[in-house]
Amino acid sequence: MRIGVLALQGAFIEHIHMLSGMGVETVAVRLPAELGGLDGLIIPGGESTTIGKLAVAYGLIDPLRSFGQNKPIWGTCAGAILLAKEIRQHQPLLGLMDIVVARNAFGRQLDSFVTPLDVPALLFSKANNPPFPAVFIRAPIIDSISGDARVLASLPDGRIVAVRQKHLLATSFHPELTNDNRFHQYFSMMVAGKV
Ligand code: GLN
Repeated sequence: MRIGVLALQGAFIEHIHMLSGMGVETVAVRLPAELGGLDGLIIPGGESTTIGKLAVAYGLIDPLRSFGQNKPIWGTCAGAILLAKEIRQHQPLLGLMDIVVARNAFGRQLDSFVTPLDVPALLFSKANNPPFPAVFIRAPIIDSISGDARVLASLPDGRIVAVRQKHLLATSFHPELTNDNRFHQYFSMMVAGKV
């Protein structure tokens, strides 16, 4: 299995380290040709406007859209914004998931936080499935979902922070900044067609 990590800007190296630590072959993707031969792709957190503009400049928007038609993509934070069909402001998007996202929904950088999150879908790895340490950094929330998108996790107040739609996954938070690799395991199982 080979998983690419879009390496235009943001926290891509942390995803690469996490996957490598699990023994998964990874590729840093900067050019359209580098999508060839990948079984899945992670779009990291960072600044969605910057990642979007660079994706336009590198001719990646259409190749990423076609990749995401049938191959698994996981967007974390800024990556989740890029996957959204709608974000109520104008910037380049892939528009692959039926989610409406609100950027910077928790305030400024100083309002970043870590919170334990119940994620029933992670039950595969540990019988007692402890809460996942979710790191939110100027994070978006998922305002609403439609079509066959389904919620994987919400905050106690009901705000949606993780969604799966078939082979696509969006999380508002940053699993690559923890030492808990359960979300990366989950995504690699999606790529393998096991979940
Ligand atoms: N605030 C960023 C944006 O709107 C996302 C932050 C992140 O990825 N940690 O694009």
